[in-house]
Amino acid sequence: MKAYDGMYIDGAWRPAAGDERIEVVNPADEQVIATVPAGTAQDVDEAVRAARAAFPGWAATAPAERAARITALRDALAARREEIAGTVSAELGAPPAFSRAVHADLPVAVAGSYAELLGSHEFEEKIGNSTVFHEPVGVVGAITPWNYPLHQIVAKAAPAFAAGCTVVLKPAEDTPLVARLFAEAVHEAGFPAGVFNLVTGRGPVAGQALAGHEGVDLVSFTGSTAVGRQIAATAGAAVKRVALELGGKSANVILPGADLAKAVNVGIANVFSNAGQTCSAWTRMLVHTEQYDEAVALAATAAAKYVPGGDRLGPVVSARQRDRVRGYIRRGIEEGARLVAGGPDAPEGRSTGYYIRPTVFADVTPGMTIAQEEIFGPVICVIRYEDEADALRIANGTVYGLAGAVWAADEATATAFARRMDTGQVDINGGRFNPLAPFGGYKDSGIGRELGAHGLTEYLHTKSLQF
Ligand code: NDP
Repeated sequence: MKAYDGMYIDGAWRPAAGDERIEVVNPADEQVIATVPAGTAQDVDEAVRAARAAFPGWAATAPAERAARITALRDALAARREEIAGTVSAELGAPPAFSRAVHADLPVAVAGSYAELLGSHEFEEKIGNSTVFHEPVGVVGAITPWNYPLHQIVAKAAPAFAAGCTVVLKPAEDTPLVARLFAEAVHEAGFPAGVFNLVTGRGPVAGQALAGHEGVDLVSFTGSTAVGRQIAATAGAAVKRVALELGGKSANVILPGADLAKAVNVGIANVFSNAGQTCSAWTRMLVHTEQYDEAVALAATAAAKYVPGGDRLGPVVSARQRDRVRGYIRRGIEEGARLVAGGPDAPEGRSTGYYIRPTVFADVTPGMTIAQEEIFGPVICVIRYEDEADALRIANGTVYGLAGAVWAADEATATAFARRMDTGQVDINGGRFNPLAPFGGYKDSGIGRELGAHGLTEYLHTKSLQF
């Protein structure tokens, strides 16, 4: 077990203000693998002061200089691929192949995209007799979750750096180790002191201190809707900008005429990868009544390929999340859904580790708790619809609107349906994830967009000069 010290503040690791520590647990074997300091309001205050002091200098740099630093950061992350993948596997529990391909490689792609964007992004435009300048918002307080621990950091820090903002990060307490690797990469990339600062700690202490700090101009949060609401209220009272990327309950709508086997198989992979801990996961599969039984059978067969502890399905992040997910599975059974795979008990031979049996529920009705609330585990609900209008009503019938999928015989039919969905992203007939496309939610799924040029805009003010 390793005991890590210090917070990364003003370009150096400095001792934490308090003595409290956070234990980092490997969810695969429940062993404590490391401890990190639990930051206090004092650590947050020091970090925000450093970020404020660094802001004017960083904001004044040329886009090419910021691009050079972000390129160096991308390279420093790429050079740490194995260390990042190993760290995420150890603290989150993700299988090694997924850790490499997604947890390590996606942040490299996102960082690279912002270095590239700076080559062409216009920070100035003419509108009639006005010149409009796009200027950095200031100090960003970034609060991130554990599910894609490095991606969530880079999706906030890279556009903030590109805009000319400085950053204080409070990562999730379950996954602080990869955040420390990120700080090392920032240091190696040669960013000026204070442009990036890291305070590890607990949400209600360090997180709350950061969200409410008067020196923070924008709070960017990803996590649960409950905490997001609280952060928005705090930020609203102080008239701070806020960006929220919250939960989801996305629909995978399979229309008649679609390739059913492909739609079901891709849908299962979408939900069960990362042990179901993906905010944009298509956790509700909507199937026409005439194809329903066939789809349920295909889903059960596909789910059987996900063996807990095998190379496709790791544990969930913590005992708390395991208990929460199992509670939802029990609730589904109580409310009358039909279990066709999985269940609430520990998987065979996996009494240690926070493993969940990959679970497929059939005969789920749209009003059931499992069809309405975010479960965040390898659990999918297969829901029957009668016609297209019924499918649309069900798809739009939750408080969330983050992502989704539509499968149809042709793209025009799928597109027409997708345009009527109240959601921020829809994949048509298996369209690939695009790290440049804006990502974010309608309704309770959040405010604002991350990634690509739209993500950059979140970190910019606009100023008009009239001539
Ligand atoms: P949280 O929303 O509690 O955690 C997200 C981040 O917010 C963490 O860094 C957390 O710190 C911090 N935080 C917690 N409370 C506060 C606060 N009062 N003020 C400021 N920051 C705070 O999510 P959970 O980890 O509790 O997960 C619960 C559920 O949330 C999941 O089951 C899932 O449904 C949803 N979720 C959604 C995610 C998404 O990607 N949209 C990601 C993660 C969870 P700390 O780690 O110390 O608690």
